[in-house]
Amino acid sequence: MPVKKIDTPAPNRRATPGTQHAGTAKAAPPQKITTPKKSAASKKPARKTPAKASGKAIKTDGTAPRKMPKALADARARMAKKRKPRVQDAATVHAIFQALHDANPDPQGELHYVNPFTLLVAVVLSAQATDSGVNRATRPLFAIADTPQKILALGEEQLRDYIKTIGLYRTKAKNVIGLCEKLISDYGGKIPQDRDELQKLPGVGRKTANVVLNIAFGQETIAVDTHLFRISNRLRLAPGKTPLEVELGLEKVVPKEFRRHAHHWLILHGRYICKATKPECEKCVVREYCDSPDKRI
Ligand code: SF4
Repeated sequence: MPVKKIDTPAPNRRATPGTQHAGTAKAAPPQKITTPKKSAASKKPARKTPAKASGKAIKTDGTAPRKMPKALADARARMAKKRKPRVQDAATVHAIFQALHDANPDPQGELHYVNPFTLLVAVVLSAQATDSGVNRATRPLFAIADTPQKILALGEEQLRDYIKTIGLYRTKAKNVIGLCEKLISDYGGKIPQDRDELQKLPGVGRKTANVVLNIAFGQETIAVDTHLFRISNRLRLAPGKTPLEVELGLEKVVPKEFRRHAHHWLILHGRYICKATKPECEKCVVREYCDSPDKRI
């Protein structure tokens, strides 16, 4: 009797949805196999070192850290506060300006000008340029054009020729022509003695307006440039993160008798002594009041 062949199904060969058996026309696309995420409960807790677990640092020799006595901690905090108050006290601020005054009783700006209008033009041209570089260009310019009308008669192209040695001269020439036109149309060709009005002129910001008001009209304004900003922070006269913050701080602390020339003293001190990278502290007349980390003696 012949033996009957019996087909037995392969063990555990289950069809999954989307798969096709061999012999059908198309092969099934590969399936993405994802592994189930472990539940939070099934995660093993990270092993903590004894220090981490307790939240305390341990010494390398294994002994427990000693806690600083409260009295000592308080004393240290008081000393730190005493050592570095945010702003110098009034007596020290007075002493600093007295020393700057004694070293240079009549400080002068270094820009060449012949009247308030030419001062305004010179300050506009001095942005991101040296005073000496501006003076080289403006001496011949102001010799032939010292009013808004004369600058306009010169025209933008010729003005550019006079100032082409100064950085950003194209933009500055445009601004000077614009401010001449506005001075004539809105202010009768005169320089307004008001900061807000000055700031309406092309190329004139708060610092420029402050310089003009101080030098041309004797107002007690303080123009914060890069030097003033640095020194006010180093000497803790008026620490601040922005020029405006420093300006408003200085207005509060500078004694009345020094306000007129405060900005000149600080600019000249920053330009020649308290330089940005290598301050010449050995020549500094206010070094005894300085505890800046930049101090080099
Ligand atoms: S001691 Fe040095 S860092 Fe301090 S204000 Fe004088 S020049 Fe500047």
